Amino acid sequence: MNYTVIFDELLNDPRLAAFAAEARNALPTWFTDQQQAAGDEIRRLGEAASTLQGAPLTPLAPQDLPDWIRLSLIDALVWWLLDTATTCRHSPSPYSPKPVFAVAWKPGLIVCAACTGLLYPPRNSIASATCDGCGHVCAGPATDDGIYTASVILGLLWFDVGLCTDCRQTYPGHGPR
Ligand SMILES: [Zn+2]
Ligand SMILES: [Zn+2]
Repeated sequence: MNYTVIFDELLNDPRLAAFAAEARNALPTWFTDQQQAAGDEIRRLGEAASTLQGAPLTPLAPQDLPDWIRLSLIDALVWWLLDTATTCRHSPSPYSPKPVFAVAWKPGLIVCAACTGLLYPPRNSIASATCDGCGHVCAGPATDDGIYTASVILGLLWFDVGLCTDCRQTYPGHGPR
């Protein structure tokens, strides 16, 4: 069994909240304070982005996400935690909690808030129009075939996926079109 599957099962385990609370109590205060500050920061970014896009920030349980989104997000977390991800030059570390960013279309890359530019393909490129769910290259909003970027926040990780109109229907957090 690989770590992504183990982590996925853990997220679905009803005992997780109690376990996480116990783990938090065992951690030094400087670490939990930093983690709290980083959590507040990523929540603020999420709220700002949702206001900008006019799409509400929707609380979701991990199991509400389509499997492919949940598992690619967990892949990103696991690679980061195991130190097998490629990072930006600031080497964001799980041992020094700060918001981190990853995207479905560049698996294995984790960057800090200053380096999110590394994640996004050039505007109007094929890559920027490709759905991460099914591989469809969207023609553009003029033909009602636009691409929609969905952002999922889990803990300190911000994870973006590009969705075509069809795949967007399977995404529970989708806001107004
Ligand atoms: Zn960086
Ligand atoms: Zn699609």
